Amino acid sequence: MRPAARPGVAFVGDAALATDPLFGVGCGWAFQSAEWLVDETRSALLDHGDLDVALERYRRAFRRRLGPHHMQIADYSTGRPMRLNERITFRAAAKDPVVAAAVEEFATRRSTILRLLDPRLLPRVLGSDRLAQSLGWRERRRSRQLLPR
Ligand SMILES: Cc1cc2nc3c(=O)[nH]c(=O)nc-3n(C[C@H](O)[C@H](O)[C@H](O)COP(=O)(O)OP(=O)(O)OC[C@H]3O[C@@H](n4cnc5c(N)ncnc54)[C@H](O)[C@@H]3O)c2cc1C
Repeated sequence: MRPAARPGVAFVGDAALATDPLFGVGCGWAFQSAEWLVDETRSALLDHGDLDVALERYRRAFRRRLGPHHMQIADYSTGRPMRLNERITFRAAAKDPVVAAAVEEFATRRSTILRLLDPRLLPRVLGSDRLAQSLGWRERRRSRQLLPR
């Protein structure tokens, strides 16, 4: 990932961010980032405004929209085992439609990982896992056995 713009130059698609292709997001991000670049710069180009200010807006929009997704994808791509909070959340999503909708929003990149930090989800996530507290220790031990680093 590099800054999507600097004074006088802009990058879209893989030129700005090449994330792990396993997640199948690069084509969409290429089209979207081209659109964001046009959105942010067309007025400056058509009305002879300050192009570098517009490019800076694009750079920030790109980072705000894709940065959290990229960091999270890169984190999964290390091959690390699932964390306890992820196991509990995904298990809850299999049982609770509200949690499932939040996980779907995040997994399809319609919202960032921050969606799962919504405090209203927490009781539902913990409520659907009666053993959430006592599982903590056993889950960690099991994840080490099943998913070696
Ligand atoms: C194995 C693999 C699987 C993938 N699977 C998926 C998937 O399932 N879903 C998904 O959404 N994304 C997937 N991606 C990612 C996706 O292919 C890229 O994110 C996307 O193609 C980026 O588009 P782009 O236009 O930014 O760059 P590119 O598609 O790389 O296009 C850049 C173009 O510029 C040309 N070029 C380079 N230098 C010059 C030059 N000096 N002059 C003229 N032309 C030049 C290149 O030849 C190329 O045609 C995958 C990637 C890989 C490697």
